[in-house]
Amino acid sequence: MSHIYDVVIIGAGPAGCAVAHNLYRQGIKNFLLVDKSKFPREKICGGVLFLETQKFLKEMGLLNEVKARSYEVKRNYNITPYGTILKVRNGNSQDPEFLVLRRKIFDQILLNYIKRLKIPVKENMHIRGLWENNSTIRGVISREGEYIGAKIIVVATGVNSSRFYLKRRHYFQAIGYTGQFENTKFMKNTCYTIYDKDFLPLYGWMVPEADDLVNIGVGLEQPMFSQDKIKKYFERLCSVHFKPYLHEARLVGIARGFPLRYTYRIKDIVDRNILYVGEAGGIVNPVTGEGISQALISGKLAAHAISSFLSNNEQAELTNYEKMVRRRYHTFPWMRLVKSFMNHKLNWRIIETFQGKEGKLPL
Ligand SMILES: Cc1cc2nc3c(=O)[nH]c(=O)nc-3n(C[C@H](O)[C@H](O)[C@H](O)COP(=O)(O)OP(=O)(O)OC[C@H]3O[C@@H](n4cnc5c(N)ncnc54)[C@H](O)[C@@H]3O)c2cc1C
Repeated sequence: MSHIYDVVIIGAGPAGCAVAHNLYRQGIKNFLLVDKSKFPREKICGGVLFLETQKFLKEMGLLNEVKARSYEVKRNYNITPYGTILKVRNGNSQDPEFLVLRRKIFDQILLNYIKRLKIPVKENMHIRGLWENNSTIRGVISREGEYIGAKIIVVATGVNSSRFYLKRRHYFQAIGYTGQFENTKFMKNTCYTIYDKDFLPLYGWMVPEADDLVNIGVGLEQPMFSQDKIKKYFERLCSVHFKPYLHEARLVGIARGFPLRYTYRIKDIVDRNILYVGEAGGIVNPVTGEGISQALISGKLAAHAISSFLSNNEQAELTNYEKMVRRRYHTFPWMRLVKSFMNHKLNWRIIETFQGKEGKLPL
């Protein structure tokens, strides 16, 4: 080890790429972005890109490229535990509610952009852990035993980040079990969210990825899920809720589950010279499970804090990252209440009254 980087970013998903992009914009050049995978790599995700994500992409100059590869969802039907379809907010609008893009493509677009900026990127580099010496974090160690020195370490490794935490922490966990289907009979440009009483406070979904390809999945919260239960609910979603649309459908590949971590109270996302961004810091919407825009935004805030730290060498500048993220997501603690409200089937009658009904799902 000879070179010491200002920053090493572990993980080149949305969070890591957002840090890299914003460090570059702040004029910082002495940093490295590493990922254990060779891109394009798959990531189990709905691939829903909400407005916040699109705003961020516009800032990066990537919105048109992403739009050109995405599928537009114009209607999102929410179905209550009573089978009622809630009134659609922008029912008559031709503007998309959101875009959908497979993460394999989305993350590749982000990383290609980073490479175009000539930012040093190392793929296929699995980071084994932090390099600690005399109670000081000096950098990271790769699986091959390479020591990479850095003043600041950014952990952007998503859900499996435990090895990079200096102290024990508690995150809430959910699991999403999803599969892709072709040859279905769903309406085009339409998404369904199913609030079945067994899935509450989470939901089942059908998100279209193309005219002839949809992603169907179900999310359950810990401690409700077991591998058997989630598979059973996924099968029920397909054979009961979506039965009319799946008569001649084919499952593409296999259905698979993947965990998701979140917190209502963002804390410990700065620890000494380590910053945790995106899902590694539990920065995921606790109600919807949306994590892409949170990864991008927390990545940007981390880069701002790092840039100030490198100019002033004041630890307070790094600590400020946590304050900024908390301010940005000040509604997270309240989401516990929202979720406990949604968890009771009867409360959905109140939601039906206030939002209005559009009809019934043909079961
Ligand atoms: C089933 C499911 C559906 C979802 N649907 C949506 C959705 O529709 N919209 C939405 O906004 N969010 C969704 N999410 C949440 C979203 O996928 C995540 O919150 C988001 O990917 C977090 O981004 P990230 O950059 O923090 O982490 P990740 O995207 O997980 O990226 C982490 C990166 O770190 C790398 N890495 C990990 N460990 C190491 C290591 N030791 N060394 C080097 N590299 C490493 C990985 O290879 C990976 O590239 C969903 C999640 C699940 C589980």
